[in-house]
Amino acid sequence: MKCLKPAEMMELLYGETDPATLQKGREHLAQCSKCRNAYWQLKDTRDWLGKNDNREQPVIFILPPPAVKKPAVGLKIAAAAILAILIGAGGFYAARFQKQTETLLAHQQQMEQKLENASFRIQETNRNQYMMVLALKDYLDKNYQTRKVSYEKFR
Ligand SMILES: [Zn+2]
Repeated sequence: MKCLKPAEMMELLYGETDPATLQKGREHLAQCSKCRNAYWQLKDTRDWLGKNDNREQPVIFILPPPAVKKPAVGLKIAAAAILAILIGAGGFYAARFQKQTETLLAHQQQMEQKLENASFRIQETNRNQYMMVLALKDYLDKNYQTRKVSYEKFR
């Protein structure tokens, strides 16, 4: 048997398919450590969600697609160069420009922070998508009686 697809993994997790297919899936899990690990991770996530969701309705969180902007590369160097020239010239405007440079550097720090947050979100997105599917599924199970009946049957 080929490795389990995500949809088959979900069917197995919730016991939502015919007994023969369930049996095949379990047999595959017994011999394939890759699928087994994925299955346990998914199960842990589902259990975690079950334990932590005390609300009437599960929280469904939808992340906006991460907007990754390139930070202004070399801004620091350019600012430093401008500052160096101004200091070298000893001009009257040096202090004023230094202040602007500081503002620019502060902006760049903000940009770097945003970029860091965005890349963190990308790492979390895959897990969150799973969680979202699980939350949605729990919501459907709680709110649609016919669906609940259909998966109780195969337990
Ligand atoms: Zn496999």
